[in-house]
Formats: sequence, C-alpha cells, structure tokens
Amino acid sequence: MSQILPPATLGMLGGGQLGRFFVLAAHEMGYKVWVLDPDKNSPAGLAADRHLCADYGDFAALDELANSCAAVTTEFENVPAATLEYLAKFLPVRPSADAVGICQNRVAEKMFLRNNGLPHAAFASINSEADLRDTPDELYPGILKVARFGYDGKGQARVKSREEAIAAFQAFHHEPCVLEQMLKLDYEVSVVLARDEHGKTKCFPVAENAHAKGILDISILPARSGTCQQDSAQELAEHLAERLGYIGTLAVEFFVSHGQLYVNEMAPRPHNSGHATVDACVTSQYEQQVRALCGLPLGDARAHSAAVMVNLLGDIWYDATQPGPDSHGAYREPDWSKLLTVPNLKLHLYGKHHARPGRKMGHFTVVDADPVKAHAVAMAARAAIG
Ligand code: ADP
Ligand code: MG
Repeated sequence: MSQILPPATLGMLGGGQLGRFFVLAAHEMGYKVWVLDPDKNSPAGLAADRHLCADYGDFAALDELANSCAAVTTEFENVPAATLEYLAKFLPVRPSADAVGICQNRVAEKMFLRNNGLPHAAFASINSEADLRDTPDELYPGILKVARFGYDGKGQARVKSREEAIAAFQAFHHEPCVLEQMLKLDYEVSVVLARDEHGKTKCFPVAENAHAKGILDISILPARSGTCQQDSAQELAEHLAERLGYIGTLAVEFFVSHGQLYVNEMAPRPHNSGHATVDACVTSQYEQQVRALCGLPLGDARAHSAAVMVNLLGDIWYDATQPGPDSHGAYREPDWSKLLTVPNLKLHLYGKHHARPGRKMGHFTVVDADPVKAHAVAMAARAAIG
C-alpha cells in the first residue's frame, strides 16, 4: 500500500478516550479524523473533524466514512466483524476483521493461544450446563467469563465449585463463556506494541499493572526491575502479533504466576496501560496506530523517562462526607489545582459529561528520570486528589 500522508482523512470506529488520543495524535501530524460512534457526547467525537453519530451497523454512515476516509481503524474491540468486513471492501481497515474477531471473543482468543503454543491459564469453553458438569477438577477455583462484551471485570464470576459455576452460568443467561483456572498472581504486566504492514514490530517497555475492583488502577512503565522477564514478555507479544497477522497497535496482557508468564488477553487497539507512552516515550501508542494505519515506518518506542500512570475514576467526583442525591454523596468537580501544581505530572481529562463511580474520566502520568521518585510523587498526588 502506498503511504497515506497528511492532510488525508482517517476514520476511527469508536468514540472513547482511546479514540480521542488517536484523534489528538493524528491532528498533531496534520491528518483529519472522522469518528463513528452512536454517543453524541463521545470523547473522540467531540475532538474529531466530523462525528458520525450512528450505530456501527448503519450502512449509510459506513458509506460516508468509506467515501471520505483514506483508511479506517478502531479503538474498540466490539465493533461488529461485519462492519470491518464491509469497510474493507472500499479502503484499508487495520487491524483486520479477522484479528479483531479473535480478540473480541474469549473462546476464539483462548483457542488461538492454545493453537499457537502461547502460555495461558487452563480453560474450558462453556456452551451449556452439561459442559460445566464435564469440567475437570483442576479448573477450580476458577473464574467464569462471558465470551463477548466483558470489560473492567464485568461479566466475570469467581467460582469455587461446579455448583457455583452452574449458578453463575445461569446468572449470565447461559451465554457462551470460558471457565479459567484461577491463578495465584505474583503481579500483572502488559506489552503494547505496534506492527506495520511489512511485519516490522516495535514494542514499548513492559508495563506493570495493578488493578482495583477489576479496573486498572496504576501502571508503572517500565515494570520494576526484577519483577518480570521483560524480554520474554516482549518476545511472546511479538510472536502473538505475527501469528495474528496484525497491523496496528496491539496490547497483550499477561499474568505472572510463580514466576511464569501467561497470556491473559489481547486488545486490538491502544490500551489503558499504554497511556504513559504519550508522556514518557519518543512515540506514543496512538502515533504508532496512525503510522501503522497510514503505511508509515513506525517510530522509536523507547521510553525517555520512567512513568507512573494513575487512572482517575468517576468516584472522586463524589464527596461522601456531604449529602448528595444518592448514596455516593455530593457531586462536585475535584480540585485539580492539587495535581496541576506538580511540575512533572501530566493531567489528561477526557471531557466526559458526567462522572459515575467506576467510569474512567481521566488519568495522570508522573514522569521522572528516577522511577522510585515517579512512583512516590504519583502516590502522593493520588492521595491528595482523593
Ligand atoms: P477484563 O480486563 O476484560 O475485565 P480480564 O480477563 O483481564 O478481563 O480480567 C480482569 C482481572 O481479573 C485481571 O486483570 C486479573 O486481575 C483478574 N483475573 C482474571 N482472570 C484471572 C485468572 N485466571 N486468575 C487470576 N486472576 C484473574
Ligand atoms: Mg483485562
């Protein structure tokens, strides 16, 4: 494919914060971006040159996108495969419908890992209560996950026995699931990488991730020394991207259990744990997405600083000490001056209109040559903002 150069227009499927950062990166490089998302207040739609406010299956909107854009990508793994296949008849779509299709379904994802010899937790694919009755003992205690549309720990149940698994499967209305063995986690890491159309890959440093209530809480870049076999994680992620025939920015989440790496899941898009690449790396994960989409050579993925990224959830908009309309307390804007006065802290707010507990509203990244200092400053800032 010949290179797509500025001021071409690029298409983005999905209007969340990951799409918004893509828009900002593309704008800096001189591209225009059209966003398709059904939410009229979507963060990426608000920043785009044009927001097509329509469903992903709206063919009139897809035709408009195809007629105006030079290439299209996604920030959201749940775009229907049919949408990507339709667009691919008219213009380059990266990543491909096939790659997105594997990443958006946990059964397909686990089968892909198994078939390609990538290390993963033991699992069974579950379509019926009979499948659950046949599950081996080694899968308990386990975790039952719906195959489609789970995120941030939603659509998951921790189960100690077959009986609990059957009850959870009923609560999920018998939707297809995977049952995974529960691993004892030492910690979690992720590798974000970009792969171009010639198969050249650039990996960002391994990120170390801590979750709270199933949602990413903080991400440390690079992962602290001694915490994992960084080269092995990057090699596994590169191998995985190659087997997927992937073009674009890809994230691979890993568990580390008893010192061993296991692939948890993949995201066919930039990743929350890669936000720090904006402030700490020569090229961000979003710029790499633009570059891979446009057939440009990938940028240098090296980190020039250590960084600690902290997610800002909607919870901090509520003051539990003051009465409010519901049990969360009074609704008010957090006091951003507490963060904006820290000189090596970069605040990113996504422009979402209403904060809800658990909703990702923004994040901040502390960058420092010294990773220990970056961590200390980030923890103090987090404590200050609540
Ligand atoms: P999602 O991020 O889509 O909600 P994940 O499969 O990544 O779903 O699960 C969310 C979190 O739950 C993981 O980051 C991890 O902390 C925990 N978890 C998930 N699967 C397992 C497992 N098999 N063993 C131990 N912990 C797990
Ligand atoms: Mg996950």
